[in-house]
Formats: sequence, C-alpha cells, structure tokens
Amino acid sequence: MSRFTNAVASRPNDLPPAWDGLPVTWGEWTIDQVFLCRISDDAGSVVPHREPCPACGAVEALICEGHTASRIRRGTGNVVAFGAGGLSLTAYRCRGCGLDHVHDGTWLWQLDPDDYAGEGSWA
Ligand SMILES: [Zn+2]
Repeated sequence: MSRFTNAVASRPNDLPPAWDGLPVTWGEWTIDQVFLCRISDDAGSVVPHREPCPACGAVEALICEGHTASRIRRGTGNVVAFGAGGLSLTAYRCRGCGLDHVHDGTWLWQLDPDDYAGEGSWA
C-alpha cells in the first residue's frame, strides 16, 4: 500500500468526528491546488501560497469543507452562540502522505492520530 493509503486506512474515522466537543458534518473531498495557507505579500495583500507538506514535501492537497453543529457554549461564564451552521472548518489532506491539517477560521491545526478517535479534536 502507498504511504497515503496506509495513513488514511489506519484512522478510526476519515476526519475528526467532533471539534472541541461539537459534532462535525464533513463534505466530500475535492482537489485543491493551493496547499495549506495564504500569506501576505510585501504590499500586505493576502495571496495564495503553495506550502509544501511538512512531512513529505508534496504540494498537492485534497480539500474538504465541514461545519460543526451549532451550540451555545458556556465554558467560562460567557455565553457564546455560534451561527446557525456552527463553526466552518476546512480540512486539507496531503496527496503524498495523507497528513491532514484543519483550518478553523482562525488557526491551522495539524491533526494527530488521537484527533480521529470518537471524541474528535480538542484545541
Ligand atoms: Zn505529505
């Protein structure tokens, strides 16, 4: 089996079933031409940037959009309501080795094996 197939097949779920405790609904994987991140150029504009995979150096990725269930969170005494569709997530999967990153709208997270288990990913 390829490195990609091995990595993906070893996971209990294709992507984290939950994000910070909120169940996630993931869409279909599609081919993304721009891997991982966008950077600001010298003029301060945000431009697409081909970032090689940190594990294998490949620049092609698959992309998958997901969203969490909406919920009111009362963790710190503050009440925070997500929008009707919950938090939007974007997953990027390296086509060379299967390494996944998820962008939560603010931060880009590299997934660990634990993130694919039943409780999902916790920041
Ligand atoms: Zn890779």
